Amino acid sequence: WLYWKQNLSAKDKWIEPDIEKLDPDVQDFIRQYGRDPFRDPRSHGTVHLSACNGRGDLAGCTSTSGLFFKMPGRVGDSALIGAGCFVDNGIGAAGSTGRGEANILVSGGSLVVERMRAGRSPKDACVDVLKRIAETTKEKRLLDDRGRPGFAISFYAVNKAGAYAGATMW
Ligand code: ASP
Repeated sequence: WLYWKQNLSAKDKWIEPDIEKLDPDVQDFIRQYGRDPFRDPRSHGTVHLSACNGRGDLAGCTSTSGLFFKMPGRVGDSALIGAGCFVDNGIGAAGSTGRGEANILVSGGSLVVERMRAGRSPKDACVDVLKRIAETTKEKRLLDDRGRPGFAISFYAVNKAGAYAGATMW
C-alpha cells in the first residue's frame, strides 16, 4: 500500500519511479518481496460465489475492490447485476472475475444463465460466453499477436441441479 501510495500521481499513477526514489522502508519491502505483484495495473482480486442449497435454491455474490488499487470513477462488472453476478432461481447462478470491461460488453453473468436455460451445461455455458467475448474484442491493444484476447477473464456457474463449472480465457 505504501508503495502504491508513493506512486499516486495526478498525471499517471501507473508509472513507477526508480527504486532509489522510494521511501527506504518501501525499498526494503521491494527487495524482500519483489515488485512484480504491483507492476501489472490489471491485477485483480475479485471473488465470485455461486451456490445451490439442498432444496435447489440458488444464490450468488461477487466481492471486489475493482481493479487492483481502484481507479477513481471506474465501475467494474462486479457491481453490475447481469455482468459480474446473476441469479435466476429457476435456472442457475453465474459470475465472473477478470477484465470487467470485456464482461460488461456481453452481460456475461446473465448470458451464462441464458445459455444454461437453453440447455447448455454449466461448463459449456461458461465457454460459450468466453467465445462471445473473444469475438467481441476488437481493440488491437487487447489482442495478442494471433488476434486472441490477451487478458484474463473467468466465469463460474451452477445450475438448478447443483452441477457446477468454471472456465477461463487462459
Ligand atoms: N472484474 C473486476 C473488475 O473489472 C476485477 C476482478 O475480477 O478482480 O472490476
